Amino acid sequence: MTEPVHVYAGDCATSYSADGDSRRQRGRVVVVHKPDDTVLVHDAEGYQPVEWLTRANAVHRETDGDGGFALVAVKDGERLRVESRDDADRASHGATAAGTEVGTCPDCDGTLVRARGAVICLDCPAEYGLPRDAAMLDSTCDCGLPRMAVERGARFEVCVDRDCEQLDEAIRERFDREWSCPDCESDLRVLRERTLFFRCEGYPDCETTFALPDREVVGTCECGLPQVRRADSSCTDDAARADSSARATDPRCLDSECAETPETV
Ligand SMILES: [Zn+2]
Ligand SMILES: [Zn+2]
Ligand SMILES: [Zn+2]
Ligand SMILES: [Zn+2]
Repeated sequence: MTEPVHVYAGDCATSYSADGDSRRQRGRVVVVHKPDDTVLVHDAEGYQPVEWLTRANAVHRETDGDGGFALVAVKDGERLRVESRDDADRASHGATAAGTEVGTCPDCDGTLVRARGAVICLDCPAEYGLPRDAAMLDSTCDCGLPRMAVERGARFEVCVDRDCEQLDEAIRERFDREWSCPDCESDLRVLRERTLFFRCEGYPDCETTFALPDREVVGTCECGLPQVRRADSSCTDDAARADSSARATDPRCLDSECAETPETV
């Protein structure tokens, strides 16, 4: 959904002050006031604004009847003031987040893009939050929305709308009670708190929990837990680094401390 970006252009005096320091500049500039109250003052060159304030606490705008304007943005100890010296041009434009195009909105025929962790429509309020590691698929759900793939021990392909196809449900169907607790042999249940995870059915007597794997399950460890494919060597997360001593092709136990996990030869 669009929010207004206000744009002003003209001969302006700009002053910026912070912690007792201040500077003044004069020139023909373009001022951009974004919906998050970021204010940018651009002159004729370069990508960098000559002055700016990111996510100001407050922005006051004044326009006079003669076509001039003044704009003051404040943030903690910082203050940015831009004032036109004569007639200025001004306009408002509806803007959205920008991202990769991923489909067409079934509600309004608008364009869907993937931006800031969600699929959003450029023309209506439709928004679908995505898991961070979701990969968009070329296929379209029966409801008209794009589908995504998520790796959680296996590859799950579901609609981006959780109300249409539930990723949690699909994962539960596949992995709930699939493995046993290595400590007490009760079933491991798939639960969600902030994220999905395995917890021993013997809880609270047994407190064994494991994160759901974000890679493919390729077998079962001697201890009873699933074995997952190792991270690619290009992967730089901590788990991958800890794994780097072992051969990259060996699957490893879901429990990184499992004694059955093969060590480097
Ligand atoms: Zn729409
Ligand atoms: Zn759907
Ligand atoms: Zn247990
Ligand atoms: Zn194991």
